[in-house]
Order: sequence, then C-alpha cells, then structure tokens
Amino acid sequence: MVEKAILLDMEKCIACRACQVACKQWNELPAEETTFFAAAGGYQNPAELSPSTFTLIKFNEMEKEGKLWWLFRVHSCMQCVDPACVKACPVEPVKAMTYVKETGATYVNRELCIGCGSCREYCPFTIPVIDTEAEKSTKCNFCFDRLENGMEPACAKACPTDCLVFGDREQILEMAHKAVERLSAKGRHPVIYGEKELGSGTKKIYVLPEPLEYYPDLPKNPKVSEDIGLLHELLNPPSSILTGLGLVFGGVSWVANRKKIIIEESKSEKEG
Ligand code: SF4
Ligand code: SF4
Ligand code: SF4
Repeated sequence: MVEKAILLDMEKCIACRACQVACKQWNELPAEETTFFAAAGGYQNPAELSPSTFTLIKFNEMEKEGKLWWLFRVHSCMQCVDPACVKACPVEPVKAMTYVKETGATYVNRELCIGCGSCREYCPFTIPVIDTEAEKSTKCNFCFDRLENGMEPACAKACPTDCLVFGDREQILEMAHKAVERLSAKGRHPVIYGEKELGSGTKKIYVLPEPLEYYPDLPKNPKVSEDIGLLHELLNPPSSILTGLGLVFGGVSWVANRKKIIIEESKSEKEG
C-alpha cells in the first residue's frame, strides 16, 4: 500500500481544537478536569497529553518586533515510518505496540499491553502515556480503524482550515514544500519537520512557520537510543536455556522496576 501521511501546515491553524475534540470523540475518551497553568500563556489545555487526551494543541509564543505571536502546534504521536516504540515493546510473539503494514498505523493493542513503559522510554518524542490505573500505554493510533475502513483520521476530517490534510506521503511532502515557498514569500522562516527526522521520517509532516527554536518541546535532532533491543533480548532469549532463564528473570525484574518508576513519576507529576 502507498504510504500515507498527515500534513500539519501550522500557519493555517486557528487553535479551534476541533481536531482535539474529534480525536476524543472517535476514541471515546472522557473529558478531564483541567486547570489554568502559567506556561504557554495559560490557554493550552490540558497541559500535556494524558490517557484521555491523545491530541493536544500546544500554544507556543514568539516575540517579534515588539509584538507577541502565538505559534500553535498539534501535538500527538508522530507515527514514525520506522517506529522505535514497536521495537522497544517486549511482548512477543505478537507485539502490544502494533505496526499495521496495510495502513502504516502504529497503535496500542490494549489486550496485550502490560503497561511496562518501554514504548515511552524509547520513543524519541516521549509520546506514549502510561495509564497507571489500567496499566496500559495510550497514544494517538493514527485512527487505524478508520483507515481500515477507507476513512481519513478524525483530526484531519474535523479541521476547518486545511491545516491538517491526509493523503499519500509523497504528495503530502510536495504540499509541504509548496507551503514553505508560500511562507517564505510572506517573510516567515518556515521549516519542514518529519520528512527526514530519524532517517526515514514520520507520517506527521509539519510545516512550522518559524524555526525550531520557537518550538522548544520538539527535539531538534531526535534519536533512538542504542540500547533499544536490550529489553526485548532479555525477555526473548536466543539459544542457551540457562542463559535464557537468567535473562528472563532479569527482564521480568526490569519490567517490574520500570512500572514502579513510571507510577511514581506519574504520581509526582500529578502532585506537582
Ligand atoms: S512518535 Fe513515538 S510512539 Fe509515535 S510512532 Fe514514533 S516512536 Fe512510536
Ligand atoms: S507499555 Fe510495554 S507492553 Fe505496552 S505497548 Fe508499551 S512497550 Fe508494549
Ligand atoms: S482543527 Fe485544524 S485549525 Fe483547529 S486546532 Fe486543529 S489543526 Fe488547528
């Protein structure tokens, strides 16, 4: 199948949050209690992705010629072409973090997920959020169930300004380069993010109207950690049974420790 992608032409974003709401609606995610917070001008809400928010409009700020500008950004799983989260998932023989070849979507199979947090740990964008009550990983699933039925992702369907456009990745990249020309002609300093990042790129292709320094939560040079295969090897040892048994116990204890750390981190984030 031809590789698909979503263009995120962020100059066209009016922060209406239709995409955020459509994502919640399609995934049947409940509302969550939110509070005003000092960062990002206080209009971004909620503050971060959570088990009930897979898509979030970020409100970044920029000062130029004595004026304050808002630079909006749709924040969610980047849907990497070569997803590290899938490699990191230790569940075998069928991964809980699943890559669907037919649609190119990466999604969490909740039936299989053990909530170990390895996908979050190794995600170069730190996207998956562990639902510590259900002990499951959560994130944007590229609306894999809509794609399987010939529909576009809910966020792209809902966007009223064509900021979000779903299509063949090659065509989306062409559109991204045209958007850069359009913005440069207006005196902006646009960048494309997602075309080449991590080598093979992502399926969310941003056109950001201003340089990356104005988007501090997007890593400049995202990388996948070199020890990514370690947990998988620990839990799925190759030949020697004795070595294998030792490694399995090591792996189980790693998972238990990771879960403990993630639950503690999540508690202190909530309290903070
Ligand atoms: S952004 Fe992270 S969670 Fe999303 S596909 Fe890439 S590695 Fe996986
Ligand atoms: S939390 Fe663990 S088991 Fe669940 S998807 Fe992530 S890596 Fe796989
Ligand atoms: S629906 Fe479109 S315009 Fe509205 S917040 Fe989302 S990306 Fe921006």
